Amino acid sequence: MSMSLPDSPFKTHGGVNVPHRKNTAKVESAVLPSPDTVILPMQQHVGAPCAPCVKAGDHVLVGQKIADSTAFVSAPIHASVSGKVIAIQKIMLGGGQLVDGVKIQSDGKMEISPDVKPPKIGNLDEFLKAVHESGLVGLGGAGFPTHVKLNVPKGKHVDTLIINTAECEPYITSDNRCAIEETDNIVNGLEAVKKWLGIHRVIIAVEGNKPDVIEKMTKAVANDSEVKVLTLRARYPQGAEKVLIQSCTDRRVPMGGLPADVGCIVMNITSTAFLGNYLATGMPLVKKRVTVDGSAIKDPKNVIAPIGTSIRALADFCGGYKEKPKKILIGGPMMGVSIFNDEVPIVKQNNGILFFDEKEAHKMEPTPCIRCGRCVNVCPMHLMPTLLEKYAKAKRVDDLVKLDVMDCMECGCCAYSCPAGRPLVQSIRFGKALVKARGKK
Ligand code: SF4
Ligand code: SF4
Repeated sequence: MSMSLPDSPFKTHGGVNVPHRKNTAKVESAVLPSPDTVILPMQQHVGAPCAPCVKAGDHVLVGQKIADSTAFVSAPIHASVSGKVIAIQKIMLGGGQLVDGVKIQSDGKMEISPDVKPPKIGNLDEFLKAVHESGLVGLGGAGFPTHVKLNVPKGKHVDTLIINTAECEPYITSDNRCAIEETDNIVNGLEAVKKWLGIHRVIIAVEGNKPDVIEKMTKAVANDSEVKVLTLRARYPQGAEKVLIQSCTDRRVPMGGLPADVGCIVMNITSTAFLGNYLATGMPLVKKRVTVDGSAIKDPKNVIAPIGTSIRALADFCGGYKEKPKKILIGGPMMGVSIFNDEVPIVKQNNGILFFDEKEAHKMEPTPCIRCGRCVNVCPMHLMPTLLEKYAKAKRVDDLVKLDVMDCMECGCCAYSCPAGRPLVQSIRFGKALVKARGKK
């Protein structure tokens, strides 16, 4: 018999209490009908961008591969609607990168490609190949190709799979709804990873503010004694990979290290559900559940939409705007990226789009640092944000490296707790870019 463990006994450093604002947690997800057009960017993952394998004028079907790369760290891209490729064009992503995109005019039929068949898997290599072919990347926001994550480096031994159901960002509830609506897929997905990677301990880690998820998942895994549901304290950033590993196992990933260094693999729950469905049906990653919320949107809900749908189409599907949004965020308010317009398409790893009115978008004017030390106390990575900001501004790259700037996961706890309203994360991002640029040279 499986069981639900009590609250995690393991303490982690730092973090902040944020208002949860999970307005859409109890609202059933709605399926967006086929949009008129989608644009599929060639960079929807960490790693090498894909190159299109279709051209303008081609007819494509749902699930058909339209782009791929020979690089190991990459993931193929599939058509999310059936219809005609009308252009290969440059498209600016939410983060500001200019990449190629395949624009498809939908024929409204959502006809499925004959290539879509459950994969035949008889060993670990075939499992990893199938995961690669599915186009799966970390769907919690990271976008790291899953076949790379599941390919445990030689010399490492993984004994624990953690299914990340923390979803600690305010507003975002897409993982929460996935756990309720796709429980069977989740169980199939985690059982497959367990089987092919030979893992005998699975922890489904859920924050305590999701009792319905805890109850449903506990029942779903009741027959597998190797799978446990673990309730975690609802505190941001509980879902950050390194924080989660420590909360679940009391193991600490070393600076610059990977989860496999401490015997763990962390998979997002939506990624796990997708995998379960893919292994059963062969349908690659072509749609995504996205939380649409914020003070400027009329009817907040989770929307299941074809990848490549414009953010504007999602907003329209949710009743449109109450007033023109002053700020649009891809992701949650802590780690999300502010975007310039609503024509940007959603990509694989997007899990939330927030639209804020003038009042909610109000930004505090920064004042000088008063050396209160709050930013240091709340940093889950034991960093010194105030010094990192100073060194980034002064372009002191050696000092940034000495202070482990690359270990900053950009969680935003420092900026959130700063009484002077200092834009610490932006400065630290700049500092990381300086270090990367020197590395390239
Ligand atoms: S954004 Fe970086 S420096 Fe700031 S609290 Fe998070 S990990 Fe620490
Ligand atoms: S929290 Fe803000 S004011 Fe306080 S030490 Fe850090 S940067 Fe300075």
